[in-house]
Amino acid sequence: IVSLRDVQKSFGSLRVLDGVSFAVERGEVLALIGRSGSGKSTALRCIDRFEKVDGGEIVVCGHRVDRPDVDLRALRQDVGIVFQSYNLFPHLTIEQNITLAPCAVKGLANSQAKDLARKVLAQVGLEEKLHAYPEQLSGGQQQRAAIARSLAMQPKVMLFDEVTSALDPELTAEVLKVIEQLAADGMTMVMVTHEMGFAKGIADRIVFMHRGKVHETGPASILTSPTTPELTQFVGTGNL
Ligand code: ATP
Ligand code: MG
Repeated sequence: IVSLRDVQKSFGSLRVLDGVSFAVERGEVLALIGRSGSGKSTALRCIDRFEKVDGGEIVVCGHRVDRPDVDLRALRQDVGIVFQSYNLFPHLTIEQNITLAPCAVKGLANSQAKDLARKVLAQVGLEEKLHAYPEQLSGGQQQRAAIARSLAMQPKVMLFDEVTSALDPELTAEVLKVIEQLAADGMTMVMVTHEMGFAKGIADRIVFMHRGKVHETGPASILTSPTTPELTQFVGTGNL
């Protein structure tokens, strides 16, 4: 459902992705891990075409993302992305934040969109915050609301970029629980995470990036028995 083949991306003279290839099957969870600056966020942003690639091929839900004529609107309906910062619109209620895109992009009637908002907020355990404003929510609640907003577009793939790294442990746990439930419900996900314990428990596949390359990849068990010195060092430095 997502595949990257020999993807190249540079910022000026800095080669950030140097021949990255990996694939995610429908219903799979892929965890992207690696040191700061290894290219994880860039790889994720290329999947949703927030960045254009310089070379290689990216196919997402049948969309050729590497091509200039890719239908961005169709692509973004199929792919939801949630970042570290919640990016909720501060002047809109949670309900308005959630119904905005389904109404504007999918042409849903207001009442349908409101039903949908209730449904996705229930999924993340925030039904009671329908009419609250983002600033009235905790960080963890805001992040769950951001996830709900993405879910309202009924994406086929969800991308998460360190969605818990701005949160303290208690709030992190509640967000991870929501993601875990999504995985259990069969959502296809690519997640950049520093939560190695969580990655080990939830990921079908681990991609360890190092200097813009996929340095080691395999099932979650590679975290406990890595074969390259770089991954050994990475999981050994208190990350696990
Ligand atoms: P982190 O764990 O710190 O989030 P990362 O693995 O997500 O790191 P990226 O954000 O993909 O790393 O960045 C990879 C490299 O590309 C870094 O050296 C970064 O400085 C550089 N970079 C990323 N975005 C840009 C940009 N828009 N312009 C120039 N350089 C960039
Ligand atoms: Mg990053």
